[in-house]
Amino acid sequence: MTDYFEVHSRDGAARLGELRLTPPVSTPGLVDDVLVDGGSLWQAERDQPTGDDSSLTVLPHRSFPAGTREEVQEAFATDADATDFPSAAVLSSEQPRDQGADAYILSDASGIVGHGEALKNAIVRVKSALPADTALILSGVGTPVNVATLAYAGVDGFDAKLAKIKGSQGKYLTSDGEMFLEDLRELPCACQACQQPREEFTSEDCIDHNIAALRAELRRVRERIRAGRLRDYIEGQARHDNWLTAAFREFDSQYSYLEERTPVIRDTELSAATSDSIRRVEIQRFAERVTTRYRNRFSNPLVLVPCSARKPYSDSQSHGQFHDAIGFRGHTVSMTSPIGVVPPELELTYPAQHYDSVVTGRWSEDEKQFVAEVLRRYLRRNEYPRVIAHVPDHGYRDIVERVDADPEIELDFEYTVEGHPTASASLANLAETLHGELKFSKREREHNTVKAIADYQFGPDAGDALFGDIEIRTTGRYPKLQIRNSDGDQLATMVPQYGMLAMTLTGAAHWLESDAPTKVVEIDGFVPHGSVLAPGVVDASEEIRPGDEVVITGPKAFGIGRAEMSGPEMIDSTRGIASEVRHVRER
Ligand SMILES: [Zn+2]
Repeated sequence: MTDYFEVHSRDGAARLGELRLTPPVSTPGLVDDVLVDGGSLWQAERDQPTGDDSSLTVLPHRSFPAGTREEVQEAFATDADATDFPSAAVLSSEQPRDQGADAYILSDASGIVGHGEALKNAIVRVKSALPADTALILSGVGTPVNVATLAYAGVDGFDAKLAKIKGSQGKYLTSDGEMFLEDLRELPCACQACQQPREEFTSEDCIDHNIAALRAELRRVRERIRAGRLRDYIEGQARHDNWLTAAFREFDSQYSYLEERTPVIRDTELSAATSDSIRRVEIQRFAERVTTRYRNRFSNPLVLVPCSARKPYSDSQSHGQFHDAIGFRGHTVSMTSPIGVVPPELELTYPAQHYDSVVTGRWSEDEKQFVAEVLRRYLRRNEYPRVIAHVPDHGYRDIVERVDADPEIELDFEYTVEGHPTASASLANLAETLHGELKFSKREREHNTVKAIADYQFGPDAGDALFGDIEIRTTGRYPKLQIRNSDGDQLATMVPQYGMLAMTLTGAAHWLESDAPTKVVEIDGFVPHGSVLAPGVVDASEEIRPGDEVVITGPKAFGIGRAEMSGPEMIDSTRGIASEVRHVRER
C-alpha cells in the first residue's frame, strides 16, 4: 500500500505529484529534507553494509500526514514493523523490484546520468518493475540543466547535493549549463544571492545561487507539465547538453514506453519547431491512426492541397479559395509537415488543429520522407477514382511525385497548380479538372465526419460498427454536432476543441453492444460521482490511454467518462483519479 505519494496529473512519462509529508513536497521537486539530515522526515539506514543495494530499505521514523495525533505517531514510531507510514527503498536499476515502498531511490543514478541510452534502459526497467504510484528519486545528480529531461523521462525527485558540491567548486549552474565563476563577467541571474556585486560573490553565494536555480527550473518543469507542454520545452532546452538531446531521442525510439503515457487529447498548442518533433508520440500516433484506422467513405476524387498556417485549415483564406473551386466535388486532404496527411473529417482532431510549425517553405529530407510514407500508406488503404494534386512546387510537389512514381500506386496523379496554388489560373484549373464530378451532400459530409472520428478514436471500422447499422441523425451546427438514433436519443456529441466524440449513457450502452473495440473500466460495488478513484478499479482495458473515452461498469453503476491515466496504471495504482465520470446511472 503506497499512501504517501500521489500523482495528480501526467504529461507523457512526466508526472505532477505530491509526497504527502509535513509539509507536502510537490514533484518533480527537491526532496533533500525528506531523505536525510536536518530535521529528516525519512531516516535512511545508511550505515548498514550494502552488499545488495536493492535490499536496503530506508525506513522512515518521523513523518506522518498533517494532523496525525501525537499518540498515533508515538505508537508507530516504536513499531519498526509498522507499514502504515511513508517509506523509501534504495534500488539498483540492474535488478529493480517492488518492495512496497512509497518512494525508490536509484543507487546507481550517477552511473546512468550522462549517458542517453543507459538512462533510457534504466528508467524503462525500473518503471516496469514498480507500481505507477511510487516516486522515483535520483540522488546526487540533479542540476538546472538536466532536471527537465530527467522529469520528462519519469523521474519525480531530486536533491541539491550536486548543486552544492559544484557551488563549492566555484561552478555556477544555469538551465543552459555550467560556468566557472571566474569566467563570468556578469551573473546571468537575479536571485537573492546574485544581487551581490560580481567581485563580492563568494562560493557560498554560488551554492545559494545553484540551489535557487535548481528550484526555479523545477518550478518551470512543473508549470510545463501542468500545461501539457514539457516536450515543447525540452526540445529546445535539452540542446544545451548533447547527452540530454541523445536521452530524449532514446526515449522517442522506445515508443511504447511514452505512448502508453501520452494523452490522446490536449487543448494546448503543440509546437513543432525542431527536427525531433516528427518523432513525438502525438505526431506518430496521428499518422499511425490515419493510415490504419481511418477510412475514406466518399466516392469523389481525392484533392491533395497544402496545409495552411491557420488552424483549422478550413478557416484559412487559402482553403476558402480551394473550397470555392472544389465545391464539394472532391475529398480535400491536406498535406503537412510534420503531421503527414489530414483528411477534412479529422481537421479538428488532436493534434491536427493544435500544432504550430516553423514556416519557411523549405522541407528537410526527413520531412519529405515522412510525409511521402504517410501519403503512400494512406493511398494503399483508401481507394479513389482519381487523385488531383493541387500542390505548389518545391517540397509538396517533390513528395507527391515520389508517391506518384511508386509502382504500387496505380493511379496517375493530375497536377493543377501553375505557379502558386491560389493563383487564379491554378484555381481555374482545379475547378475545370473537377468538371462533371458530382457533389456530396451536407448530410453525407456530417455522417462521414462522425464515422471517421469514431474510426480514429475507437479503432478500425468503429464508425460503421457504431453508426452504420442504425439510422443516425446529426443535429446542431458543425462542428458542434450531436449524434442521435432514429428515436431522437442522443448517442454522442462531437467536441470541437479536439475533434473527438463524447458519448452519452445511451451511446455507451450502444457502444458496448456494438462490434466496435471498447475501453472499459470495471469498478467495485459503488456509484461514482464526478470521478472514479484508482482503488475502486477492479480491472481496466490495457489499451486505455489518458484522455480516452471509457465505459465505467460495476455491480451498482453504469457510466461513461474520460480516462485520467492509462489502463495499466489504473490497475497498478492505489491512489489518484483513474477516470472522470461524465454521466452515471445506478443499477
Ligand atoms: Zn542566482
